[in-house]
Amino acid sequence: MQNVEFLLRAAISAAASAREHGNHPFGALLTDEQGNILLIAENTVNTGGDATGHAETNLVREASQKYSFEELSRSTLYSSTEPCPMCSGAIFWSGIGKVVYALSEERLYALSVHSTESLKLACRDVLARGGRPVHECLTLFPTLIEPLYAPAAQRNVIIFHAGDNDIGQGRNADQTYAAFTQYVALAHRQGWRVVVSTEFHVPHFNAEREAQLEAYNTMLLRNQAGADAVVDMDADPRFLDLSYRSDPALFRDPLHPSDAGLAIMLDRLAPAIRRVAGR
Ligand SMILES: [Zn+2]
Repeated sequence: MQNVEFLLRAAISAAASAREHGNHPFGALLTDEQGNILLIAENTVNTGGDATGHAETNLVREASQKYSFEELSRSTLYSSTEPCPMCSGAIFWSGIGKVVYALSEERLYALSVHSTESLKLACRDVLARGGRPVHECLTLFPTLIEPLYAPAAQRNVIIFHAGDNDIGQGRNADQTYAAFTQYVALAHRQGWRVVVSTEFHVPHFNAEREAQLEAYNTMLLRNQAGADAVVDMDADPRFLDLSYRSDPALFRDPLHPSDAGLAIMLDRLAPAIRRVAGR
């Protein structure tokens, strides 16, 4: 049994996940009468190439396959944002008994300054037309979701950490950096900002490959590609000194940091990410 705020936070996490996957930031989940989560869904409009891939419609589609109308009449749908008229219709036909959302449609439109399209019809009004009593149709905790629509949240940042594979496959530093330069240009054309970290040294590289990796890292730091920030991982001795690679607290194998190692990486990256994102 979870409380309403917890459940709305979970729906909002699904909305954040949708944004990370390249979709619009909307998420929804379904609970049984006791508040146990049955299903979670997120918006898939962009990645699915389907304008009807709203979080709630995706959720209803899955819910109807798994549960009867009768079971759904006792369930509650929690959504990061008030369901649109299409989703409200889907919710009605599914039989779902209650709807709770964080942000109202009205507030969403007020926040979405870039949106030129709108279809203004409250969830409550759609459901009321069905003549079936909907027990709740509530806006709660809207401030939990509003940051996802704030301009600062819309500054997309890519964290780039790659290059050793190219060198491992026999490409030299120039070729590897040329590929990275093209990547930055493409990302910038699409409106992304790029934070790049230097590559980790690879213990099994021979001297020639190690020299190419070193040269690639030097090019990254010189940053002729115009990345928005470059973070030097070698500045931390725990990443530079290969004797740490056998320490399971920091590395899960000689190449890949463990959770603690990743936390150190993130710590090094965070100031650059904040600076680039303007936060
Ligand atoms: Zn919708």
